Amino acid sequence: MPIVDVHTHVYPPSYISLLSSRTTNPRIRAPNELLILPGEEHGRPVGPEYSNIQLKIDFMDQHGIDISIISLANPWLDFVDSDVAASAATSHNDEMNDLCDQHPGRLFAFGTLPLSAADVGDIVKEVERLPSLKYMRGIILGTSGLGSGLDDARLHPIYKALEQTGQTIFLHPHYGLPKEVFGPRAGEYGHVLPLALGFPLETTIAVSRMILSGVFDRFPKLSVLLAHSGGTLPFLAGRLESCIVHDGHLFEKSGNVEGTRRRDVWEILKTNILLDAVVYSEVGVRAAVEVAGADRVLFGTSFGFLPLLMEMIDDECG
Ligand code: URA
Repeated sequence: MPIVDVHTHVYPPSYISLLSSRTTNPRIRAPNELLILPGEEHGRPVGPEYSNIQLKIDFMDQHGIDISIISLANPWLDFVDSDVAASAATSHNDEMNDLCDQHPGRLFAFGTLPLSAADVGDIVKEVERLPSLKYMRGIILGTSGLGSGLDDARLHPIYKALEQTGQTIFLHPHYGLPKEVFGPRAGEYGHVLPLALGFPLETTIAVSRMILSGVFDRFPKLSVLLAHSGGTLPFLAGRLESCIVHDGHLFEKSGNVEGTRRRDVWEILKTNILLDAVVYSEVGVRAAVEVAGADRVLFGTSFGFLPLLMEMIDDECG
């Protein structure tokens, strides 16, 4: 059976140029400091491993990974001006497809949507265009959607187009939690609190809002791959379901909409949701397998952002 890495990021060369041309976050500050998280003042190093596709292939060869499904890393195109969003997405997705074409059979990709476009129709058009690109297998999506989260009914035409074209959503965090929750000393702890806790809780809240608003009842074939094993969803699914059951008006109908049937959290986990295994502990992987089923937990590396990996690449590149 081939080993497939479903969680492996790139910043293709044009995106590196875009970030490098900016003076406010998200940006790359010379010589190689990546500042992308909301409110971030001290960034992280960004090196050739993000943009040089040969380094990814070398990494795959070194670790016996047969196939990678590459995706743009956060913050995607969420920040681009609305009048250029559609063309930025088209050219980015074409560039990703071309990168895959350099290594046929080894690389596939998740595309990126022009979420800041003023017209939702432009976003739907890109969803419908993606399957014409040979290596596209779905899209990567942050938790903000059109600015109000993923339980926003304005996203329904996009979900519908994704469902109809059989494309998976790879749901990935970026925005974290409001910095106040981490307290006044948070700055002393580097990126630990936003990345270790903010990211997974952001994902958990985003997917819970999708469940509560009835997205999976309305679009029963929608497939969503959750980064980092679903944040804390495997651990909290029971509590989420219990709270829904105790809130009678949510229990009886889906998304609080008359005449609809609600599917419970466990069923959604076993039918709509895939989890990656990027959770950094055996106990986390076991929880993911327990709730989703072993065939719905997928290998990933989070290539690009793994500190150990960056050290290894530094060694290799001298
Ligand atoms: N992993 C990511 O994918 N993005 C970050 O910003 C940090 C870790």
